[in-house]
Amino acid sequence: MKMQKKRYVLKFPAQSGDMPLSYHLVKDFDIRINILRAEVWPGKTGSLVLELEGTTTNLKNGIAYLEENQVSCEPLNKKITWDNARCISCGNCTAVCFAGALQMNPEKWELQFDPEKCIVCELCVPACPLNLFKIDFRDN
Ligand code: SF4
Ligand code: SF4
Repeated sequence: MKMQKKRYVLKFPAQSGDMPLSYHLVKDFDIRINILRAEVWPGKTGSLVLELEGTTTNLKNGIAYLEENQVSCEPLNKKITWDNARCISCGNCTAVCFAGALQMNPEKWELQFDPEKCIVCELCVPACPLNLFKIDFRDN
C-alpha cells in the first residue's frame, strides 16, 4: 500500500495537552510521527508541527481521530524560498535556524539550504539583512 508523508500544524485545547494522542496515532492508525516543532505547556493550549507518514486511509482516519478530540489539524501549506543568487553567505540566518536547514558549508563557506529540514518557523525571514527569505503559500 502506498505510503504518504505529510506535514501538519496541530492546535489543541488545554484539556488535550495530557492525552496520549501520539500513542493512538502510532498504535491504532499505524502512523509514523516526526515532531518538527512543539509548543506545549501542561494545562495550556499548545501547537505542534508534525510530519506524519502512513497510508492515505490511515492518515485520513488518524486526522479524523484528532479532530474528534478537539485537535485542529491543518496541512502545512507554506514553504520558505531563498534567493540564493543574492546571498553573501554572511551566516546570520544560520544562528536562528534551530532545525538545521540553514548551514554554512565549512569548505566553501557558502550557505546551504535543505528544504527537507525546514519547519517553516520563519525566524530566518527577519534575520537576513538582505531580506532573501520569503514565505510561499501553496497547496499541499
Ligand atoms: S523557516 Fe528558516 S529558520 Fe525556520 S527552519 Fe526553515 S530555514 Fe530554518
Ligand atoms: S542572512 Fe541572508 S545573506 Fe546572510 S547567509 Fe543568510 S541568506 Fe545569505
